[in-house]
Amino acid sequence: MSDADPVDVLAIAAHRDDVEQTCGGTLLRMHSLQLRTAILDLTQGEAGTRGSAEERGREADEAARILCVAWRGALDIPDGRVENTWENRIKVARKLRQLRPRVLILPYWQGRHPDHYNSSTLGYEACFLSGLAKIETGEPPFRPFKIVYASLYADARPSFVVDISPFIEERFRALLAYRSQYADQPSGGSLFVPHDEIRERTFSLARHYGLLGGVRYAEPFVQKEVGLVDDLTLLPVASI
Ligand SMILES: [Zn+2]
Repeated sequence: MSDADPVDVLAIAAHRDDVEQTCGGTLLRMHSLQLRTAILDLTQGEAGTRGSAEERGREADEAARILCVAWRGALDIPDGRVENTWENRIKVARKLRQLRPRVLILPYWQGRHPDHYNSSTLGYEACFLSGLAKIETGEPPFRPFKIVYASLYADARPSFVVDISPFIEERFRALLAYRSQYADQPSGGSLFVPHDEIRERTFSLARHYGLLGGVRYAEPFVQKEVGLVDDLTLLPVASI
């Protein structure tokens, strides 16, 4: 991808299939608004219980097609060892400078899996580095205008939710593209759950966040900044 075609929204996540779970519906909605979307996975999935990195790469490509993203790539940060190092910050900053997203979606900064919360801090600090002229990567300096945090699995009250009602089935289809992870199969049976259970979890979580926004299905996000309102009569969600 060249400087000539920046993306509007970039989602960064630790693992292939994270974006599908936390903000895939939002990427579909942005695409439906004619925005250019992209996904950067920080690892390639070589440490997973099921499937090889190559297999997960093919599955990620298929999921990317279902999510209609303009670009998807993976860095070579070790799976299970996402660390906020200088080297990793430079790797991410280089991608930010190439893709030039106006909005960046990062994982929420707290969670169970260290790769997830480390990706959050790593992504934020890479944005900072990416804007510094003295950091040489071969591309001009760049910082996203906005960073939002995908908080679906976080114990956090969202700042806002995105209505994904028309896209819920496609988002689920993108998740099932990871057949090595989600197909009903015996290996890792105690760690992995069957399709019906995944569907129920996915839809009920989306329904929960949908209710918060007065729609059927939604994905939640946290922004650190305070919102700025122009016209009070246009606020979108009913209070009573
Ligand atoms: Zn993950």
